[in-house]
Amino acid sequence: MEIHTEGSLLLHELTQELPGLTALDGLQALVSHAGEGLVFSTSFGWEDQVITHLIFENNLPIKVFTLDTGRMFPETYYVWARTLERYGREIEAYYPQAEALQRMISQKGPSSFYESVDNRKECCGIRKVEPLNRALEGQQCWITGIRAEQSANRQDMVSVEWDAGHQLVKYHPLFQWTLKEVKEYVKQYNIPYNPLHDKGFPSIGCQPCTRAVAPGEDFRAGRWWWEDASKKECGLHDVKS
Ligand code: SF4
Repeated sequence: MEIHTEGSLLLHELTQELPGLTALDGLQALVSHAGEGLVFSTSFGWEDQVITHLIFENNLPIKVFTLDTGRMFPETYYVWARTLERYGREIEAYYPQAEALQRMISQKGPSSFYESVDNRKECCGIRKVEPLNRALEGQQCWITGIRAEQSANRQDMVSVEWDAGHQLVKYHPLFQWTLKEVKEYVKQYNIPYNPLHDKGFPSIGCQPCTRAVAPGEDFRAGRWWWEDASKKECGLHDVKS
């Protein structure tokens, strides 16, 4: 899919300016370039909590939203509630379409994702991808908590990129941060974080599809661990099909 003219201009400006800036300077520069249509998706992991803190503490005009799949850990709801208490700002919640969810569960039961990759993708499609597409519709820039060191195929990425599927710019303000820096920042500013991180969960998604990893094990080994590693993306950062 081709890039449209407005998107192309914004991408060019942001690519020139944002890489190399601190996370806060990058977000502020983004606001001054794009003005509106800026959204940040949080799943309340460590990285996302740092970005939420930067947005709310600095009153940046960026909408923060989350996708509630309905299968999240109790600890994730706990940190979500604590984040609202701490900052007193709105986090917009997106939910799966009831009809599609009812149909899938009625036909296949509540745990069909363990049975095949197709079923797992169907569940992620209904619970995550479709609500994400709604949340991103008509926006100019999608901010995420992705870091460069997080997985093999993300090593080729850059901090500012074009998302052809959603027709918007993606910006990853913590792209160059190490996990150690993220943890230190969370500690320094006493930012609420998911207690599962202290129990061996580097990456926290839906409860039935996430487990703890051993020290030194790849962080994505804890997600959809019963599948072949090459099939593990959930579709959120893929091109929309
Ligand atoms: S991570 Fe698991 S429960 Fe969550 S949407 Fe995907 S398949 Fe469904």
